[in-house]
Amino acid sequence: MLLEKERSEIVRFGRKMLAARLTSGTGGNLSICDRDKGLVAISPSGIEYEDMLPADVVVVDSAGMAVEGTRKPSSELGFHLSLYRQRPDIQAVVHTHSVYATTIACLHWEIPAVHYLVAFSGRKVPLAPYATFGSEELAAHVAATIGDYNAVLLANHGLVTVGPNLATAFAVAEEIELVAQIYYQSKCIGEPVIVPDEEMSTVIGKFATYGQKGVETLTGSGG
Ligand code: 13P
Ligand code: ZN
Repeated sequence: MLLEKERSEIVRFGRKMLAARLTSGTGGNLSICDRDKGLVAISPSGIEYEDMLPADVVVVDSAGMAVEGTRKPSSELGFHLSLYRQRPDIQAVVHTHSVYATTIACLHWEIPAVHYLVAFSGRKVPLAPYATFGSEELAAHVAATIGDYNAVLLANHGLVTVGPNLATAFAVAEEIELVAQIYYQSKCIGEPVIVPDEEMSTVIGKFATYGQKGVETLTGSGG
């Protein structure tokens, strides 16, 4: 089976997405791009995450032609492919209908730096204009909005996140949902104070070495 490991990852993270309440029903979708092979593994359209098996995940080429799999690919294949074309640095895309991010998207607002964790996206989360789900127009809006950000709100629809791997793209979706909830709640009782741009630059810089990143350099094992 082509991209066997990637297809299993998509099944595993699809279930996680549901368990983390980042989506409901068959909403949302996930993909992984293998740039060396020029192939993309993407979740099938309209299949319950609990029932999804690796063989249900569809493998397509960079033009979207099915290479392996008997299921119909996600209806959002268009924006997954347009993101891979637009951003050579990414290898995974996650799309959710998480409630707070979608609430902000229904107001046609962006998410500003209300909390430093917005750095999972960048200085903010931008908003792509509304277009029908699964349309070429939506794919064009998403590609035109992403820039260097790792997350985009879809007006009256949901959230899309990207990353160098599926675990990172998923973490961006989780953290941006938290920031969206904080934004919503702080707007309910007052006017949130936005983190200044210079401070966001500092935070984004610190994110590059956060956690265990760069540990080889510290121990000298990098040679
Ligand atoms: P698919 O089941 O076709 O992936 O569609 C779900 C969705 O979220 C559409 O935007
Ligand atoms: Zn959707």
